[in-house]
Amino acid sequence: MLFDNLSIIDGELAFKNKKATYLTTKYGTPLMALDIDKIRGRMREYLSAVKTYISEGSSVSFASKALCFTGIYRICSEEGMGIDTVSSGEIYTALNAGFDVDKAFFHGNNKTDADIEYAIDNKIGYFVADNIEEVEKIDAYAFSKGVKQKILLRITPGIDPHTHSAINTGKVDSKFGTPIETGQAIELVGKVLSYKNVTLCGFHSHIGSQIFESSPFIFAGEIMLNFIKAVKDTFNYEVKLLNLGGGFGVKYVETDPEIDYTKRIKELGDNLKRIATGLKINLPDVILEPGRSIVADSGITLYTAGSVKEIKGYKNYVSIDGGMTDNPRYALYQSAYTVLNATKIEKPCDYVCTIAGRCCESGDLIQENVKMPKPTRGDIIAVLCTGAYNYAMASNYNKIPRPPIVGIENGEDKLLVRRETYADLVSLDV
Ligand SMILES: *Cc1c(COP(=O)(O)O)cnc(C)c1O
Repeated sequence: MLFDNLSIIDGELAFKNKKATYLTTKYGTPLMALDIDKIRGRMREYLSAVKTYISEGSSVSFASKALCFTGIYRICSEEGMGIDTVSSGEIYTALNAGFDVDKAFFHGNNKTDADIEYAIDNKIGYFVADNIEEVEKIDAYAFSKGVKQKILLRITPGIDPHTHSAINTGKVDSKFGTPIETGQAIELVGKVLSYKNVTLCGFHSHIGSQIFESSPFIFAGEIMLNFIKAVKDTFNYEVKLLNLGGGFGVKYVETDPEIDYTKRIKELGDNLKRIATGLKINLPDVILEPGRSIVADSGITLYTAGSVKEIKGYKNYVSIDGGMTDNPRYALYQSAYTVLNATKIEKPCDYVCTIAGRCCESGDLIQENVKMPKPTRGDIIAVLCTGAYNYAMASNYNKIPRPPIVGIENGEDKLLVRRETYADLVSLDV
């Protein structure tokens, strides 16, 4: 099977040796379960790799937009991970977990005045400032509080990670950051260095997602190290941090490649050292910010099948008791997922069907052209690799309550986020 935390017990699918029916009887469906041991293992792998192969001061921040709830920040804290946040709501959730936000980065292309004040009041470690207006506001508010605020600047290296082509891609015109190509990035640095209440600690770039090779990161790293050198030569100012963003890939389906994160990070580290030496600059400490590759393949979603509808000569629909409200990724991006009939896991996969959600929306699909043993109403349908950008993107469209999250660790299952109730659904209404 796709992952080694999956097995077959008594003829049905088991996740971490918990039978699907054990989990669904105890917690109901739809249900998201997380392999917490695997999440911790992945965090440790990343941390050890950056410290061994890049530098002792290098670090890893979990991009918490991928999966945000109080418990995940506790795990980050216990594992010594930094975090990336993109809103005051995420910062609030991290604080709720007791996370020391000194190790937090605050991202986003449009932080409001309220966001900036909230983050400084709560002593955020770093802003990743996107634009000059933000820097002005950060500087002014830091001045009013009598503090000096650490920042990185988001820079657009202008590369397409999937073709590795530089500059002449659409990437320069991203809504995020400031491009090097147009000369605007170096100009921005000049302005930022004149502000008294911000300390420019480094630069940040994020090139994309589902990247399986190290070469796009090396390419981006090379552009960024050249930029660091240009800043040093122009302003006699050398930054200490280079944040290369997130984006390492995850195996969603059998045809996706396997990725060895340690090996990729070693390739990155070896090359960054070589490039820095060639440029005669010190290699800054490097920060990686993986989201997907920390949590995606630790998650599984279990649903109950409802109707099995055969439209003669066209297609077959298997409807489940969830859908785009707990996993909008197929509706948004036609993302590939592995879908299994957990109840009939040992039967032949000879039935082709579309897995449909329950919303009043034709596009509410989880996957098309799935091959599985033909389900009947009541079967448990499992979707693999749902740990990232599923719960985090869940909604209450059609007033459907969001599912619970159950964590499994050291052989024990426990509720980490409870199922939303109907009362929760009207709790904001006045
Ligand atoms: C989305 C994002 C990440 C995480 O990307 P993954 O593909 O989930 O690893 C990291 N940094 C920034 C700035 C992002 O926007």
